Amino acid sequence: PTCAIADVSGADLRVPLVQGGTSTYANFDYAASAPALKQVTDRISQLLPFYASVHRGAGYASRISTECYEASRGSVARFLDADDDQVVVFTRNTTDSLNLLAGCVPGETVVLDIEHHANFLPWAARGRRVVRAAATVEETIQRVVAELCSKPAALLAVTGASNVTGEVLPLERLATIAHQCGARILVDAAQLAPHRRISLRENGIDYLAFSGHKLYAPFGSGVLVGRRDWLDAGEPYLAGGGAVRSVGVTEVEWACAPQRHEAGSPNVLGAAAIAAACDALAAIDPGELVAHERFLADRLRAGLSALSGVGLVNIWSDSPDCVGIVAFTIAGFAPGEVAAYLSAEHAIGVRDGRFCAHPLLASLGLDAALRASIGLGTTAADVDRLISAVATLVADGPTWNYAATDGHWNP
Ligand code: PMP
Repeated sequence: PTCAIADVSGADLRVPLVQGGTSTYANFDYAASAPALKQVTDRISQLLPFYASVHRGAGYASRISTECYEASRGSVARFLDADDDQVVVFTRNTTDSLNLLAGCVPGETVVLDIEHHANFLPWAARGRRVVRAAATVEETIQRVVAELCSKPAALLAVTGASNVTGEVLPLERLATIAHQCGARILVDAAQLAPHRRISLRENGIDYLAFSGHKLYAPFGSGVLVGRRDWLDAGEPYLAGGGAVRSVGVTEVEWACAPQRHEAGSPNVLGAAAIAAACDALAAIDPGELVAHERFLADRLRAGLSALSGVGLVNIWSDSPDCVGIVAFTIAGFAPGEVAAYLSAEHAIGVRDGRFCAHPLLASLGLDAALRASIGLGTTAADVDRLISAVATLVADGPTWNYAATDGHWNP
């Protein structure tokens, strides 16, 4: 597993270096947005000539567009092994999906304090109860049980994999716990879906959301999949054309989900791109996917932790699994400066900051950290390059004054 296991766009990108010249780009920011897969760009190119409004026109292009849009729901449902009772709604991204569901939940939602803001802020409107993560997964789960038992809740909303540390929660177990306590479970799979095959059916997951741009498709499209009853009964997410059965001057008869929540002209290309990504990921052996990522992430963790001053960041001491995301700090160096140095002097892209998870960073006692994330196009050579760049920084310091540039170097 030392090589890339899929063709991603930008694999041969060359970028400028501060010391002059250019270098191939090493992308360690898949967790923010993953480059499009070849199958995705191919599917978009095929569909572009048929670009036409869906559900309205009788013209040939409109019919192709409509068929493609509706068939895309099937690809998503198959990729996630959804139940017949679960409906696929196309949204703009995970944030949109979770705000949509928040408007349909008939009661309070329990969340952990480790969540991305997208799976934290939307629930506040209808009653959010926050469980503080403990030092171990086991103890954290016990706290969730206690919270769900103490007072009825409609929903347990958890991340599939932390966007900061990559740590994975035992979803099947959490689903059972939620159901025993009379709640349903939502999984924010923005970070899990690109790295693991998920079966909604086998794990008992009621709702799941992800973003196209993290699943090797372009920006602007996302998915909410889940049980029909709440989505059919909930307030339409947007009011407008396409979401209704009939409209009078004073009365509206709204459609059922998914149309109920998809008012306005939908992002057909975005849905088709997500479907292509789901089909392509479904065709990769899940074992190969995990082996590639484990090999590279273990190599990265071992290489970084051997360097003086480098500390790996984790939430729990007993995580059962972790996707290809590695968070770290370097004593004596501000994360923003390190990220600017890696980009300017080594053409390596990582993320720094608080990762839209401010409560988590605060409970870890950190103002900011660095995050290197791995994807289908990552190679062992990329990993070695990142380790050796950090080693050079720790040994020699940067050659450029990044603090004076406010942590940002703009060529
Ligand atoms: N949840 C998690 C776990 C994420 O990592 C992200 C993106 N960083 C989001 C939600 C939000 O995704 P989007 O910005 O595409 O809505």
